[in-house]
Amino acid sequence: MDFKLLIGGTLVDGAARMPVINPATGEPFADCPRADLAQMEQAVSAAKRAFPGWRDAGNTARHDAMGRLADAIEARFAEFARTLTAEQGKPLAQAEFEVGGSIAAIRYFGAQELLPETLVDEAGSLVVEQYYPLGVVACITPWNFPLILLAIKVAVALSTGNTVVAKPAPTTPLTTLLLGECAAATLPAGVFNTIVDANDLGGALSAHPDIAKISFTGSTATGRKVMASAAATLKRLTLELGGNDAAILLDDVDLDDVAPKIFQAATYNAGQVCMAAKRIYVPRQLVNGLCDRLVALVQSTVVGDGMDPATQIGPIQNRMQFDKLRDLCEDSKQQGDVLTGGEILNRPGYFIPPMIVRNLPEAARLVREEQFGPLIPILAYDTVDEAVTRANAVEYGLAGTIWGADPQRAAAVAGRIETGTVWINKHLDLRFDVPFGGVKQSGIGREQGRHGMKEFVNTRVVSLAR
Ligand code: ADP
Repeated sequence: MDFKLLIGGTLVDGAARMPVINPATGEPFADCPRADLAQMEQAVSAAKRAFPGWRDAGNTARHDAMGRLADAIEARFAEFARTLTAEQGKPLAQAEFEVGGSIAAIRYFGAQELLPETLVDEAGSLVVEQYYPLGVVACITPWNFPLILLAIKVAVALSTGNTVVAKPAPTTPLTTLLLGECAAATLPAGVFNTIVDANDLGGALSAHPDIAKISFTGSTATGRKVMASAAATLKRLTLELGGNDAAILLDDVDLDDVAPKIFQAATYNAGQVCMAAKRIYVPRQLVNGLCDRLVALVQSTVVGDGMDPATQIGPIQNRMQFDKLRDLCEDSKQQGDVLTGGEILNRPGYFIPPMIVRNLPEAARLVREEQFGPLIPILAYDTVDEAVTRANAVEYGLAGTIWGADPQRAAAVAGRIETGTVWINKHLDLRFDVPFGGVKQSGIGREQGRHGMKEFVNTRVVSLAR
């Protein structure tokens, strides 16, 4: 398959080509175009030229075009899902779920409209708040959910009248390019553009004077760089960054019910989820019971190639992350008691089965740092106050979960967690109509919901004497 960039409505080759590695084999399985700076400039100017037409086309025309885009993806559903598994590693069923969610996001946000709001309506004064698009938005995405994270950004950006330059992570470029092919056939030229880099164009894109906003999902370290490059032009920013989410089990929890849910929360997508459960705080008397159940779950879980229908957990997405997780496994073995896992599989590809580790000090790397992999620290606590303090004592503040039989008691604990989202007795419940985002070093701004849509528009207050 010959993948192309989409620049100004035309599918084009890159200035160079680069291999794409299948993480289940560690070998290249495709190659893709790589843009140079000149092509990035072309993409930005194409988006800039297309902006007035798209802005003025009106909601109905935009929503119709987005409906055609969603249909075009749906018509190639199986190809999208298989390409996603091949480049990212996730089990095919999860890839299908991601493709389905991406189509749904484009349809959902395509049908939304930010109507003006009347703030004051009284004798002598009418004050209305209006919303209008920003211009060209750069959507910069990571490698864990390369399609749906992009689809949500693009859906909101386009629905609100902006045009887009999309830049995927270099290790997962292909589904973004497929989206470009669908857009080439359904959207006006220049409204959506794709460039692929080797981690070398993000800085120039973030600094570009013709980019009005950056919608970024990635690591906190890279988020800081994006914010710095955006400063000179005071760009609007949405930064969805890392997390180190705590799961707190209360002492009335039903372990049989909750252990599989915790396991899923920590290992979905091989733990490569910004809001995965990354530290599990458990009443001391329940630690043995939880660990026994989690070890049994690890031992009955199939880790393998995502294309194999039996696979429940696929490989780690790339070599760099794989190496980082291996270091974390070694460090955890030195500092705590590893009950199972932590040994890499003796086969090609980047496979690490889930690891359950207990008795780690709070200062251990696996507790302090975001692991972004299926390595699960089980941390004993004595009082709920102490658990809350420890949960909040990290630089991140993305999400977290509370698990317990008494919803009111769990909600009271949730009200003390310093993050953007807290789920009670559930996890990963993301909805298009509910905003999501981080506090502290986990990011700035929100995505999805009306709040998320407002991050893609300027606000204009029109105040009338009457
Ligand atoms: P990871 O999750 O691998 O740490 P990053 O946060 O580095 O990922 O990457 C997320 C996205 O940010 C990727 O598309 C990457 O290419 C891009 N990126 C990397 N460096 C920069 C930069 N200086 N400015 C903007 N984007 C960047």
